[in-house]
Amino acid sequence: MTTKINAISIVLPVFNEEDGILNTIEVLENFVSCQIETYELIFVDDGSVDSSVDIIRQAQSQYDNIKLVEFSRNFGHQLAITAGIRYATGDAVVVMDADLQDPPSVIPNMIEKWQEGYDVVYGKRLIREGESFFKLFSAKAFYRVMRKVANIDIPLDTGDFRLMDRKVVDALSKLNEPEPFVRGLVSWVGFKQTAVSYERQERTSGVTKYPLSKMLRLATDGITAFSEIPLKIVNYVGVISILAGFLYGLVTTFTGISTLTFAITLMLLLSGSIMLALGIIGDYLYRTFDASKHRPQYVVAQSYGFAKRPNNIHA
Ligand code: UDP
Ligand code: MG
Repeated sequence: MTTKINAISIVLPVFNEEDGILNTIEVLENFVSCQIETYELIFVDDGSVDSSVDIIRQAQSQYDNIKLVEFSRNFGHQLAITAGIRYATGDAVVVMDADLQDPPSVIPNMIEKWQEGYDVVYGKRLIREGESFFKLFSAKAFYRVMRKVANIDIPLDTGDFRLMDRKVVDALSKLNEPEPFVRGLVSWVGFKQTAVSYERQERTSGVTKYPLSKMLRLATDGITAFSEIPLKIVNYVGVISILAGFLYGLVTTFTGISTLTFAITLMLLLSGSIMLALGIIGDYLYRTFDASKHRPQYVVAQSYGFAKRPNNIHA
């Protein structure tokens, strides 16, 4: 028996998107069917507590290329993407948001680059419509810090909207990090990569599912997974503190100046630096501990519309 291979798989992570998901499905089905002969839409429901799953299930009776993976709870956007690409059977896989912020009209440009021979075509945001000043500023700052500190080359202003060739998807699917930073891992696996620029749209409906806490988590996952610079900073702070203490000792020995305020300031500075250092080391240590538990990355409650269970789904 030959399994039907879909040319393009589109992976969409979904978390409480009941307001807009039907529109996303309709826009994609109308637009993509004019561009690509064979494709599948893989929705990964990341523990939605609204009617997103019901809406996708209903749409499955109308469109036979819709597939759904349902997580047992909210495991996070990055793990939803990770699961989706493991289930994908396409020769290339596109990852995009389920809220139409990543415009489907960019997909043909991505496919064109893929056909020219690129293995990864990532979307580079030129502008981002309808996002708060804080989000724009923090995202810009994060990508720049990440670029400076990461020990791999992560492109600037690039989210998870991208097309990946089958060989990239196979390489990514083998990685098993508990808190994956997918865009970093895509750079890590290598292959021939290029960008297409696009204008990120405003959400068509609903609100962002990325509150500040999730954004910070993503940023620390990215930095700790791809950089040891925070640990180096701990070292530098230690060295600077030792030098400052030594200097202070010299000054007090030779001049006899001993001001309580100075001593207290120094003490606060040093104890603060030690706590900060412990926190940074603890963060890395926790991640090592987390990885050593060897738990599956996520748990799939149900999957619908797949011919067979893939053997690398880790659930
Ligand atoms: N998402 C998810 N799990 C989460 C948070 C978000 O699967 O815990 C999905 C969400 O439904 C959307 C995509 O990930 O399809 C990106 O999230 P969102 O659009 O809220 O982020 P933003 O575009 O505001 O950065
Ligand atoms: Mg979005």
